[in-house]
Amino acid sequence: MDAYEELIKGYKIFRAEYLGRKFSAYRDWASKGQSPKTLIIGCSDSRVNPAILTHAGLGEVFAVNNVANIVPPYEKSQSHHKSLGAAIQYAVNHVKVEHIIVMGHSDCGGIAALMADDGSDRFDADEDDYIADWVSILNPAKKAVLENSGDSSMEECCRLAEMEGALLSIQNLAGYPWVRQAVAENALTLHAWYFHVDSGELLSYRPEEGRFRRLCR
Ligand SMILES: [Zn+2]
Repeated sequence: MDAYEELIKGYKIFRAEYLGRKFSAYRDWASKGQSPKTLIIGCSDSRVNPAILTHAGLGEVFAVNNVANIVPPYEKSQSHHKSLGAAIQYAVNHVKVEHIIVMGHSDCGGIAALMADDGSDRFDADEDDYIADWVSILNPAKKAVLENSGDSSMEECCRLAEMEGALLSIQNLAGYPWVRQAVAENALTLHAWYFHVDSGELLSYRPEEGRFRRLCR
């Protein structure tokens, strides 16, 4: 069965469950519009779907996905990244989410592109110009990691950059005026998460400890 047929097979399972035996509950739920309490900004990576990782149902997660789960700095009226800004603005001002989570992850291809040296055999800044331009938003995170990397391997530097990147995105997020206002009013909390693809462990950043720790035991 090819990948497209797999999707159709999956939809049939969804249809049987939600539009079959749960149909009246589905209609009742669908008629009320959406009111998710959480926006998750995650990577486009197919292994880190936040709704699946959190076992969330339809309507529970407002989602934005992009390469390396990046939030660019706020730019008044001249933003080059209006798509992401519009999603954040809609989530905060209209959906009234109470939590925003930026979720980084291990083995991130976007972060590998960020950390790649010139002449890397995996990425070419000319051929991969869109990727290179996008991930360069995280150059301050790259710089911070390389300045403190010591004898760390490139793989270790990438793991650190994945975490630093999520923290920089949280810092950038806090610079959006409507986010800043909602946080000041205690209506919104920002979180950084990190998902280990290999182990399945989910970590959260603890500001009071200055480090990522397991989200739960
Ligand atoms: Zn990624």
